[in-house]
Amino acid sequence: MPAPLQYVESSLALPAAADAVVIGGGIVGVFAAYYLARRGMKVALVEKGRIGAEQSSRNWGWCRQQNRDARELPIATKSLDLWDRFAAESGEDTGFRRCGLLYLSNSEEELAGWARWRDFARTVGVTTHMLDSAQATERGRATGKPWKGGVFSPTDGTADPASAAPAVARAILKLGGTMHQSCAARGIETEGGRLSSVVTEHGTIRTTTAILAGGAWASSFCRQLGIRFPQAAIRSSILAVSPGAIGLPDALHTAAVSVTRRADGGYTLAISGRGRVDPTPQQLRFSPQFLPMFVKRWRSLAPGGLEGFRSGHETLARWRLDAPTPMERMRILDPAVDKATVRLTHLRALDLLPPLQNTSIAAAWAGYIDSTPDGVPGIGEIAAVPGFILAAGFSGHGFGIGPGAGHLIADIVTGNEPIVDPRPYHPDRFRKSAWGKVADF
Ligand SMILES: Cc1cc2nc3c(=O)[nH]c(=O)nc-3n(C[C@H](O)[C@H](O)[C@H](O)COP(=O)(O)OP(=O)(O)OC[C@H]3O[C@@H](n4cnc5c(N)ncnc54)[C@H](O)[C@@H]3O)c2cc1C
Repeated sequence: MPAPLQYVESSLALPAAADAVVIGGGIVGVFAAYYLARRGMKVALVEKGRIGAEQSSRNWGWCRQQNRDARELPIATKSLDLWDRFAAESGEDTGFRRCGLLYLSNSEEELAGWARWRDFARTVGVTTHMLDSAQATERGRATGKPWKGGVFSPTDGTADPASAAPAVARAILKLGGTMHQSCAARGIETEGGRLSSVVTEHGTIRTTTAILAGGAWASSFCRQLGIRFPQAAIRSSILAVSPGAIGLPDALHTAAVSVTRRADGGYTLAISGRGRVDPTPQQLRFSPQFLPMFVKRWRSLAPGGLEGFRSGHETLARWRLDAPTPMERMRILDPAVDKATVRLTHLRALDLLPPLQNTSIAAAWAGYIDSTPDGVPGIGEIAAVPGFILAAGFSGHGFGIGPGAGHLIADIVTGNEPIVDPRPYHPDRFRKSAWGKVADF
């Protein structure tokens, strides 16, 4: 079942030329196009399906600094400010609220890990409060259970996955940008070694800059250009329940289950980190690089089925620019829900938070999380194809940092001082294969 999502109208005609073309209308693509348009650039965004319909509407909506990898923390902090500023600048509502995130645990080991992260976060000015047993039990009173401890991160928050990307798309249109749904980019053309146009199923747009924010499709697209970008998609299944539960925290994480208040007053329920790995040719190709991550997460990952083969996002096939591509055959990745996970998630949530017994299941869906081997996205211009900028592999945390990633991409394109140090994100770090071979790009 698709996740709930607002609809946005497309622009009427595909432009013949643009200063920049953004490929992919998830949260990263729309924010990149928005910040480029704010700088006066003529921007066209092409989306093969609907704005926000893949990962960006299927997530929990968490916008967090808490427990971020050190490389991602600066962009997470900036993003929280940008979420706030976007609403003020554009008059559009993404549902972003700094409601704070609550983490509860009865594991000494987990609590010690959170305390170590708090000590590190302090050194970069991020506020997070460790909770002792009494404080955690009080904050978690809706569970009716005692807790050994927890964390509350007051400056973090959530945005609404059903409305965030559409809100940013409307803001792009207000700034004079154009946005084209059901319009897959099939590839790019170059002149004199530099990017000169983006070829879409509805025509060619001349441009010197293209940003590939294609989520789970980025690696197979890069492959057409001879660019090696290791990516593996993990299928995560979650559910939403109807409004009706009173007195729950807005956003609560426990090892058993996590719960997030939705814009409609219902709740999203999920088990953190749990997913299925659907084998595909691309996964086999990159498996040596992903092995350490899969081994680390073996308790929460299970083998999947043939979903990945059927979807085509991880194909190794080469395609032509003058014929339909796998992206046109699969407008929206809407993989099968893992029913066992949904059942378990629901049972755990009812057990953790008794007020949820007053609700019913409203929807359940799955999403492919596009991961990189080190869990950090690849953002940067590809030196071998000047003008081509990759921004993908957000590894399950890209929604919250969408504004910062979009801003950083605009900084790279316009040569402005980058909002954060871009070096930790550059895709060059993936050039070396597991066998030590360096790719050509
Ligand atoms: C169940 C789940 C829970 C999550 N929870 C959180 C969370 O709480 N907080 C958080 O920060 N992150 C979370 N994430 C991760 C987050 O959703 C993603 O990291 C983020 O949405 C990625 O955004 P994106 O724009 O890169 O990709 P996507 O949203 O996947 O968008 C990519 C878009 O590109 C389009 N596209 C691809 N190729 C082409 C092409 N050739 N031409 C035109 N269009 C193309 C696709 O159709 C798609 O719409 C979660 C993800 C899932 C699945």
